[in-house]
Amino acid sequence: MSAKLPHLTPDAFYRYLKCPHWVYWDVFGDLKDKGEVPPMLQKLREDGVLHEKRCVEKMGAFEELASSGDPEELFAATLEAMRRGVPLIYQGSLLDGEWSGRPDLLRRVETPSKLGDWSYEAIDIKSSREMTEAQSYQLVFYALLLKKIQGVKPETLKMLNVECAERSMPIDDAEQGFFEVLDRILAIRAGEKPPLSFMSSCKDSPWFGMCKKEAEEGDDISLIYKIYQSEARRLRDAGYSTLTKLAEADLAALHAGVKGVTDHRLDRLHLQAQSLHGKKTMRIDEPRLPETDVELHFDIEGDPMIGVEYLHGLLIREGGKETYKAFTAENPADEGRAWLEFCDFIQGYAGAPIYHYGWYELDAIRRLSAKYGVSAKAAAALDPANMIDLNRVVQRCVIFPLYFYSLKDVAKHLGFRWRAADASGANSVLWFQEWCDKGDRALFQKIMDYNEDDVRATAHLKDWLVSPLSS
Ligand code: SF4
Repeated sequence: MSAKLPHLTPDAFYRYLKCPHWVYWDVFGDLKDKGEVPPMLQKLREDGVLHEKRCVEKMGAFEELASSGDPEELFAATLEAMRRGVPLIYQGSLLDGEWSGRPDLLRRVETPSKLGDWSYEAIDIKSSREMTEAQSYQLVFYALLLKKIQGVKPETLKMLNVECAERSMPIDDAEQGFFEVLDRILAIRAGEKPPLSFMSSCKDSPWFGMCKKEAEEGDDISLIYKIYQSEARRLRDAGYSTLTKLAEADLAALHAGVKGVTDHRLDRLHLQAQSLHGKKTMRIDEPRLPETDVELHFDIEGDPMIGVEYLHGLLIREGGKETYKAFTAENPADEGRAWLEFCDFIQGYAGAPIYHYGWYELDAIRRLSAKYGVSAKAAAALDPANMIDLNRVVQRCVIFPLYFYSLKDVAKHLGFRWRAADASGANSVLWFQEWCDKGDRALFQKIMDYNEDDVRATAHLKDWLVSPLSS
């Protein structure tokens, strides 16, 4: 191994499962090319630390070790505490060769080891309910590190979940998958570069700038919206590795030459490549939207971390006028009241089309109806037959020269502008949390403005879809 490689840490397993390229950049990327961690992720990390502390305090007496410093010194302090047989070590550091890891807790168990009549098991503290695949691999990593240090491998993987309740899994259930992923991570660390693969979450990745630059410079087919990794691989195998080649391909030759991808999907990928290559918007079907005197545009703001919907925003188009109306929960306890007020209002619009963008609104309506109830009239107004998801309409009817089809991407492409430069769903959640903590009304106003812009963006898109100029 090159001495310059950073330590292999359990994070690599989480990152690999999210995106193998992430692991590559973490080893070979230049830190100056790495973007900022998005504020939402930062907040999640901070919340994670608070949750961790809450759980640790419930575990009884513990010894907390330094969380930063020289890795060798941190490990020496941990080993010293392990040799003393401390019952519970918080923030210990494990190190062996190129492997290093920091399990949230090391708990003494009465199994003899090189340390004495005892040994240690690692426990991680997570915000999920059950142990995920990535978490199980992280725990296998700690178990193998512990084996190298104390000579005994813990046979059970353990974590504390979002409720600080213990979850466990036999190590045998995860070890095979762990070693398969480890092999691939080691290949990447040895210099094997995984093919690029874009997904919507890439926009939140600190390496997005690098990946985008590389893909654009290479005219890479990974830039095609929603291309599956398997499709990209088969296209590359058949010689269509660039947007230009795919865009200029003869369709019959494409169908004959690319194995394992349906003709329907190849047609779609071909069109998307042509759109990106020629920078042109293509209409491929009629939107078939209802012509009505009244229409509503709808968007919900919610905080998935605490499971609260705090704003129902409507743009009402009626009698040639547009009115924006917001039903707000200024604190989480007000969620039910805001929902019922919204229901009272919406029941006056039975049969009117309600435009929204994406699946979130329908999902939230289902959740809120189950939680707080819904009148028969409101349920009729919110019947899925009246709800028109413009994201689905866009996917069926239009090919945009875009890498992503979020409302922000699509409406901005069509000339719509949000008032706040930092407008995003993730920031809306942060503003709400900050408003709840600090009570700064300007923040709540920012959320309302953002929501109003979102419903106006939906209306802008709908108008474009039905406009004869949109083809
Ligand atoms: S931007 Fe996307 S492809 Fe690139 S490393 Fe991040 S998640 Fe992976």
